[in-house]
Amino acid sequence: MSIDLESVYRDLHRHPELSFQETRTAGVITRHLEELGLSFDEGVGRTGVVTSIANGDGPVVWLRADMDALPVAELTGLDYASTARGTDPAGLDVPVMHACGHDMHVSALLGALERLLATRNEWSGTIVAVFQPAEEYGAGSHAMIADGVLDRYPKPDIVLGQHVTPLPAGIIGVRPGTQMAASDGLTVVLHGRGGHGSRPHSTIDPVVMAAATVMRLQTIVSREVDPRDVAVVTVGSIHAGLKNNIIPAEAKLELSLRYPDDEARDRVLEKVERIVRAEAIASGAEQTPTISTDHTLPPTINDADATARLTTAFETAFGAGSVVDPGMFTGSEDVSWFARESGAPLVFWFWGGVDPEKYGAAVAGGTVERDIPTNHSPYFAPVLQPTLSRGVENLVVAAREFLG
Ligand code: ZN
Ligand code: ZN
Repeated sequence: MSIDLESVYRDLHRHPELSFQETRTAGVITRHLEELGLSFDEGVGRTGVVTSIANGDGPVVWLRADMDALPVAELTGLDYASTARGTDPAGLDVPVMHACGHDMHVSALLGALERLLATRNEWSGTIVAVFQPAEEYGAGSHAMIADGVLDRYPKPDIVLGQHVTPLPAGIIGVRPGTQMAASDGLTVVLHGRGGHGSRPHSTIDPVVMAAATVMRLQTIVSREVDPRDVAVVTVGSIHAGLKNNIIPAEAKLELSLRYPDDEARDRVLEKVERIVRAEAIASGAEQTPTISTDHTLPPTINDADATARLTTAFETAFGAGSVVDPGMFTGSEDVSWFARESGAPLVFWFWGGVDPEKYGAAVAGGTVERDIPTNHSPYFAPVLQPTLSRGVENLVVAAREFLG
């Protein structure tokens, strides 16, 4: 009996779960692993699932798929669109959607395990399949490592992972070196002095302080970073005050920072800190702003030799022109902790999920940015096929390349 992967995908898409809440998703995974006759561990790093296939001597290949969804209200109009809701870490009731395609990643890995099991007389070694929670928090791989996943399973000789992306279906994007940016999430609290909205002179207004800080932070990338370098400074959240005639006591900013390497990280973090402090001084603040780090993600760096090997394997399997260099993405990933913590090389690639005709029309019309929804968009919806079957084949080809 083979897994009906399209049904699995539609089911997961209809029932997305927020980070570290992927219990139903884990149940879908373990049910199919049982059907395949595989033993597994549940609750690894809270909600993760891990299984392995030992098949004689040979390399240990880790295949990783992330499981979590996002607080996004789905607008795709698909008949399997999500209407799910969930409770976010702040206790708010929020819509939930697989807006990053992790449902595709889980389905593809299940399909690949089935294929690799069926062909186990053709390869040797060990496959460790890691269904990882909470990638969107940048916390799931750490949680699994803290839970001993690198000790409980054979250490990887290589870590492999993939992400569905708005490239044409059939195309793989991968490059040696930095594939995805490093990232920090910061929370900045600006301390003012509250008071009556009619008496601003008796207060230190954190709203104005926040506004000036947000504007000045924009000059890091535009004025201070070498134009040939990549950096992103986004203020994604700003909160202060409850009422028009009350000047609040503080304002909170949440920042997302991206850079290609650790040196650039140090430089940008220093500039952020300098500007935040200086704007507080400019406002006459009596207390230094509080800056805390919510998460830190390393750059996702593809091993050059392994990437070259895999590119050749993909081109052999899918034809010349099937692999492109997509450039460095400013998005970030926590997959590389598995490789960093074990000293193994990593290859993380992207595969296309957009109808090639639709993509071609958007390119011709110069409307890719407008018409092709990206990951995290409420309209993000990979075309089911051939995206799903290619997701399976990518993993099988990649695993077989590195197994004995
Ligand atoms: Zn995402
Ligand atoms: Zn993602």
